[in-house]
Amino acid sequence: MSFFNTHDVEQMKKLAELIRVLNTTGHNPATSGNYSLRSTTSPEYAIVSESGVDKSRFDMDHFLPVFFKTREIHELFQRPGRKSSDETDIHLAIYESTNAGCVLHSHKVEALLFANLFPRANYATIEGLELLKGLKGIKTHETKVEIPLFENTQDITLLADRIRPVLGASTSANERTYALILRGHGIYVWGDTVEDAKRHLEVFDYLFQYQLEMRRYAWPS
Ligand SMILES: [Zn+2]
Repeated sequence: MSFFNTHDVEQMKKLAELIRVLNTTGHNPATSGNYSLRSTTSPEYAIVSESGVDKSRFDMDHFLPVFFKTREIHELFQRPGRKSSDETDIHLAIYESTNAGCVLHSHKVEALLFANLFPRANYATIEGLELLKGLKGIKTHETKVEIPLFENTQDITLLADRIRPVLGASTSANERTYALILRGHGIYVWGDTVEDAKRHLEVFDYLFQYQLEMRRYAWPS
């Protein structure tokens, strides 16, 4: 019998497979990137990817339950030298301030370049494009999606403290958030399920490319 319930096992299988695929398309250079699920086995922990694993070999055994309260790995999963992603705190902060069920963190270069189009801003925006309908709950291209932007830092606890109120405020205003970008670092994208998060990442990949190509050809935006 598995430690995790069947729903979590199913989502972990899907996420492990997705991680291996994303690894082949520029999302995780040099073991970067990290991934997680909200556990339905227990509300006390999230299921977070192990640190330092080559994403081309990522499998079910590389997921670790990490408690929200203590930030510790569940005792049954502790091994010498084993730790969850260095950015675990950011994943937990996203679960604490949104309804996300799955969080993907990619280092793909287009997200960084896209954020550079909004210097000194707290939010990047995308509006008026059909593919925005790929984001859950959006039914028309006549909408504007905001992506919070944060300065990068190696103090992940501080970063998580900055992220929580921004995402929490969006939720209370009844506006969904789908992603955030750390400048010069990468993007976090989330959804209710692995499938939703994957689709949202694909939507942003496409929209970022579109915005960057627009500038490349110097068309008015
Ligand atoms: Zn990162």
